[in-house]
Amino acid sequence: MIRRSFLTVLAFAAALPFTAWAQEPLKVVATTGMIADAARQVGGDQVDVKGLMGPGVDPHAYRQTRSDIVAMTRADLVLWHGLYLEAQMEGFFEDLSRKRNVVAVAEGIDKSKLRAHDDYADKYDPHVWMSPTLWADVVAQVQNALTEARPEAADTFAQNAKAHLAELEALTTYADQVLATVPESNRMLVTAHDAFGYFGASYGYEVMGIQGISTQSEAGLNRIGELVDTLVDRQISAVFVESSVSDRSMRALIEGAAAKGHNVMIGGELYSDAMGEPGTYEGTYVGMLDHNITSIARALGAEAPARGMNGKLSAGF
Ligand code: ZN
Repeated sequence: MIRRSFLTVLAFAAALPFTAWAQEPLKVVATTGMIADAARQVGGDQVDVKGLMGPGVDPHAYRQTRSDIVAMTRADLVLWHGLYLEAQMEGFFEDLSRKRNVVAVAEGIDKSKLRAHDDYADKYDPHVWMSPTLWADVVAQVQNALTEARPEAADTFAQNAKAHLAELEALTTYADQVLATVPESNRMLVTAHDAFGYFGASYGYEVMGIQGISTQSEAGLNRIGELVDTLVDRQISAVFVESSVSDRSMRALIEGAAAKGHNVMIGGELYSDAMGEPGTYEGTYVGMLDHNITSIARALGAEAPARGMNGKLSAGF
C-alpha cells in the first residue's frame, strides 16, 4: 500500500511540469447567459465559463445566491453587464471589484450609441444585446478582458472573436432582410417590458412595453388602459410574451382589447432578457436573436423561414 501511494506521488510529480505548461482553463463567471455565451465563443477551450442566470431568469430582479458568491470569489475573471441591468447586485459588484478581477462589459460601449429612456433618468437602456451590431462592441470588451487575464492566449482570442463577429454580421444581414419584408403598417412590437428599444431603433419598428425599462416597476392600470386603446385604434393584431417576465399583464391587455371587440393574438414568446435552454440553439446568443427576429417577422406578416436563418430553430413555434 505504502509502495503504491509512493508510486502515485511519483507519477503525479512527473505529470506536473506538463500540467503547468498546458495551463488550466481560465475560470470565468458571467451574470447573464448572453455574456456567458460571448465568453465561450471568444475563450474557446482556454476558458471554463459559468453563467449565473439561466433560462427565464430576470436580471433586473436577480440577487446573487450563496453558491454564486463562492463561484465569483474563486474565479479568475468575473464579467457582468452593468448599465444598471443587474440592479440588485450593483453594491455587491462594487465591493467585489476591490479585490477581484471584475469587468462590466456593456459599460465600455461608446455612450453616444446608447439610448436614454423617459422613465430612467440619468441612466441608459441596458438591453444592448437586442442589436447584433451593438453586441459586437460587447464581444470586443469580453475579448479585451480575456486577453488581459491571459495575454499568452491573445492570438486565440482574436481568432475566435473574429469568427464570432462574422456570425453577428450574418445575423444583422438576415435581420435586415426579413424584418424589412413586414408590411410597414404592422411594424409594431408590443411586449411585457421595454426590452426592445435597440431592436426598434435598428429595424424601424415602433416598440411599446407594458412595463418600463426595468421589470421592477408594477404595470399601472392606466398604462394597460392606454395600450388597450392603442391596440384597438391601430388594429394591432399580435403582441408578444417574454420568457423572463410573467405574462399576467399581457393577458390583461388581450382581455381588455377583447372587451372592446378587438381580437389580439399572442405572436409568440420572445427571449428578452434571458436565452433558451443550455445545449439548444436558442440557448446561444445567435439562436436567441434568430428566434426573436424570425418569430416577430412571421407573426407580423412577413415571409421568414420557419426554422430561421440557419435552419436550426426548434420546429413548431
Ligand atoms: Zn429587461
